[in-house]
Amino acid sequence: MSTKYYDSIHKSPLNEILDPEQVTKLESVERVYPFRSNEYYLSLIDHNNPRDPIRKIIIPDPQELANPGSLDPSGEEGFTPIPGIQHKYPQTALLLVSNTCAGICRFCFRKRLFTGENPPPVCDVNKAIDYLQKQPDLTDVLLSGGDPLMLGASKLDTILSKVRELPSKPIIRIGSKVPAYDPHRLSDTTDICDVLAKHASQEEKIYLINHFNHPHEVTESAKTAISKLKNTGAELVNQTPILEGVNNTPEVMASLFKMLAKLGVPPYYVFQCRPTSGNRHLTVPIEQAMHIIHEAQGCCSGLAKRARYIMSHKSGKIEIVGKTSKHIFMKYHQAVSLSDLNSMLVFKPNPRARWLEDYQHRLTDMVPKMTWLF
Ligand code: SF4
Repeated sequence: MSTKYYDSIHKSPLNEILDPEQVTKLESVERVYPFRSNEYYLSLIDHNNPRDPIRKIIIPDPQELANPGSLDPSGEEGFTPIPGIQHKYPQTALLLVSNTCAGICRFCFRKRLFTGENPPPVCDVNKAIDYLQKQPDLTDVLLSGGDPLMLGASKLDTILSKVRELPSKPIIRIGSKVPAYDPHRLSDTTDICDVLAKHASQEEKIYLINHFNHPHEVTESAKTAISKLKNTGAELVNQTPILEGVNNTPEVMASLFKMLAKLGVPPYYVFQCRPTSGNRHLTVPIEQAMHIIHEAQGCCSGLAKRARYIMSHKSGKIEIVGKTSKHIFMKYHQAVSLSDLNSMLVFKPNPRARWLEDYQHRLTDMVPKMTWLF
């Protein structure tokens, strides 16, 4: 049985549940930042709780209209050698293979796929493969979008077959929120899982990067989908941004980490929510977020606390490592400029900072003075 999808508030069950004035307000938001969800995911909302976390994830909020920002805060367009491919680091290429998701997250960092006059196109697979064949340092290909698991099974099969034929034999990663948004797509039919099973082997792994944001998404249906995905031989991990009103307490974050680790989906990254247009009310200041993540990790065992806290900045993937009363420490985990790789960034703390540019005082003389004793 396929899940029923809704691309407007008016045509969704929310039209009956919310009062007409609220619906009108939300419609003015969805005209700028589109709404999309399905009957399964909307059924997870507790409408008696105005602070319900699932509601924050999926239902438009008038605050979005008061939040300026960029539609491309990580400068992805600048790392697009051919349409539909992002190639920021020599070893990893990202293919935009789909422009559809099983829901539109209100905090989406790639809203330009759904918003604006010139959405980036998905890649032409043959041209993408031609390009990738000429990349000597390639070790990983990430299928993204949109959501690759929203593709038809035969299209996904074609893409995976072609990537598998690349001479560099890259690791394949697939980013997907389908297990959270529409687990029945994976558990009620076999075709998508059959395709994954065909291409995931002991020698050539597929990593499925899940996108669970809150424990309420880890339903019995989601657990069944996770189990089916694990049976394909794919390795599963999870990444989530830290989000105001969704998972910005140590208790919720720890519960998510533990629950997923127990299911064999250990946490991989926690991201700083990008300053994309319409997102600001969902972002958590960096130093507060770091404290929450560290508190959460403090009550988890090793596997559940593996996630790194990362800011996907246009200059690279920056890990936010730690803080003293006088300094905050960050480290380039990936860098556009090779000279930045693994280098430390040390700033004076700024409790209001939500992105790298909010740190004004970079300290460059952190090497301690040597005292020669002989
Ligand atoms: S699943 Fe990813 S690409 Fe799709 S709406 Fe959510 S954040 Fe955006």
